[in-house]
Amino acid sequence: MAYDFDLYVIGAGSGGVRAARFAAGFGAKVAVAESRYLGGTCVNVGCVPKKLLVYGAHFAEDFEQSQGFGWTPGEAKFDWATLIANKDREINRLNGIYRNLLVNSGVTLHEGHAKIVDPHQVEINGERYTAKNILIATGGWPQIPEISGHEHAISSNQAFFLKELPKRVLVVGGGYIAVEFAGIFHGLGAETTLLYRGELFLRGFDGAVRKHLQEELTKRGLDLQFNADIERIDKQSDGSLKVTLKDGRELEADCVFYATGRRPMLDNLGLENTGVKLDKKGFVEVDEQYQTAEPSILALGDVIGRVQLTPVALAEGMAVARRLFKPEQYRPVDYKMIPTAVFSLPNIGTVGFTEEEAREAGHDVVIFESRFRPMKLTLTECQERTLMKLVVDAKTDKVLGCHMVGPEAGEIVQGLAIALKAGASKRDFDETIGVHPTAAEEFVTMRTPVAG
Ligand code: FAD
Ligand code: NDP
Repeated sequence: MAYDFDLYVIGAGSGGVRAARFAAGFGAKVAVAESRYLGGTCVNVGCVPKKLLVYGAHFAEDFEQSQGFGWTPGEAKFDWATLIANKDREINRLNGIYRNLLVNSGVTLHEGHAKIVDPHQVEINGERYTAKNILIATGGWPQIPEISGHEHAISSNQAFFLKELPKRVLVVGGGYIAVEFAGIFHGLGAETTLLYRGELFLRGFDGAVRKHLQEELTKRGLDLQFNADIERIDKQSDGSLKVTLKDGRELEADCVFYATGRRPMLDNLGLENTGVKLDKKGFVEVDEQYQTAEPSILALGDVIGRVQLTPVALAEGMAVARRLFKPEQYRPVDYKMIPTAVFSLPNIGTVGFTEEEAREAGHDVVIFESRFRPMKLTLTECQERTLMKLVVDAKTDKVLGCHMVGPEAGEIVQGLAIALKAGASKRDFDETIGVHPTAAEEFVTMRTPVAG
C-alpha cells in the first residue's frame, strides 16, 4: 500500500525533531505534527528558558562579590518583566530556527493536535494522513498531586510566564526542577522555601552531593524544609495563599510552585485505536529499539519515561531514524554513564555511579573527595565551598563516578564523562596534567582516599 508518509512524527520536541530531520535526510518522506510550540519542552518551558533564568539569578551574588575586587556597584535593581520579555524574544527566535530546520530538511510540518485513528493513520486539523510508521514523541507534562486547593498552585509551565516575581514562594518537591527553581526565585530576591516530603532532597544523587548542596543552600539563606508535605492550600481574601502542612503547621505564600515529577503526555492521542501498551507507571512501553506493542508505532523521549533529558531524547531520535531508514548505521543508545547537571546555585554535575550505587552493585570502592573554597571567592566574604568526589573501583582502579557541587559543575563534568565512557582509571586521572589555576584540575590531583 502507498502511504502519504514513510514516517509521521507526533511532537516537534527534542526527540521528534531529531528523528524527523534525520529520517528526511536519509531520504524518507516525513511529516511532523506540533500542537503547541516548536522545539517542545526544552526550548519553550524547560532547559533553555530555565538556564536563562538561572543566569539572571546569578547576578545578585556577582554584584556582591565584585566588591572584594574593588568594585562599588550602584544600587542593584531587578525587573522581572524585562527578564521575561527578553527570554520570550530569545525563545521566539529559537522557534523560528526550529521551523527552518524542519522545512529546510524537507519535513512537512502540520501545526495542530494529532490523534492516531488507526495504526497507520493520523488525524490533524480535520485531515487524515496515512503513514508506514508513526512515532510518538509527545513528551511529558507537570504532575501536581490532587490535594485540596491544588488549583491555586502553579507548575514550571506557568512559572516562566508569571506577570511579576512573587514576594514569597513555596517550592514543593526535591528533584531537578524544585531545586533549580528554588535557586532562581531566591537569587532574584523572593523569600523562598523548599518543601520536600523526604529526609533529604535529590534522591538518587550521591549522598555527599545531596548533603553538600543542602549546606550550601542553607548558607545562602534558602529555607529548606524536609519531611514536609502539604495537606491543603487555601486562597485568602487578600489573594495570598495559606498552606497547611500534614503536620499541622501553617505557612503563607504568594505562590506555591509544584515540581513533583512529570507524566507522559498522552491526552486525546487515540492510543485506544492501537495496540500500544503502557508500563506500570503509565509511560508508553517500548522494546530496546523503541518499538511499541503495535508493530507500526514507535515512541521515544519523555513519553517512554526512561531518562527524561534532552540529550537522551536526541540520541533516541537519531537511533530511531537510523533504525528505520539507515539500518547499516544503527547503533543502540548507551544508557550507561549519562552525565547530568542540576542548575542549582551552586550547580551539581555528575556522571557514573554514586558511591551508594557502586557499593550496591558489589564494587569495593575507594573514595576521593576534595572540599575547597573556590579561588574567585578568596577576595570576597562568600563562604561557599566546592565539593568534588571520585568513586573508584578498588580492584580495577576504574573511575566509576565523578560528582561535583560548585560553579560550572555541568561544564566540567561534560569533559570527565568522555574519560569515564572511555574507561579511564584513577591512574589515568593522576597522570593527566592539570589546567592551572582552575577548579577542574582538582579532579586530577586528588591523591589521598577519604574512604575505602
Ligand atoms: P518534548 O520536548 O516535551 O516535546 C513533545 C512535543 O510534543 C511538545 O512540543 C508537545 O506540544 C507536542 N505534542 C504533545 N502531544 C501532541 C499531539 N497530540 N499532537 C501534536 N503535538 C503534540 N533536560 C535537560 O537535558 N537539561 C535541562 O536543563 C532540562 N531542564 C528542564 C527544565 C524543565 C523546567 C523541564 C520541564 C524539563 C527540563 N529538561 C531538561 C527535560 C527536557 O526538557 C525533556 O527531557 C525533553 O524536552 C524531552 O523531549 P521530548 O522530545 O521527549 O518531548
Ligand atoms: P523529579 O522526578 O526529578 O522529582 C520529583 C520530586 O517530587 C521528587 O523529589 C519526588 O520525591 C517529589 N514528589 C513526587 N510526587 C510527590 C508528591 N505527590 N508529593 C510531594 N512530593 C512529590 O521531577 P521534576 O519534576 O523535578 O523534573 C522532571 C524531570 O525533568 C527530571 O527528572 C529530569 O529528568 C528532567 N529535568 C532535567 C533537568 C536538568 O537536566 N537540569 C532540569 C529539570 C528537569 P521523592 O524523591 O520522594 O519521590
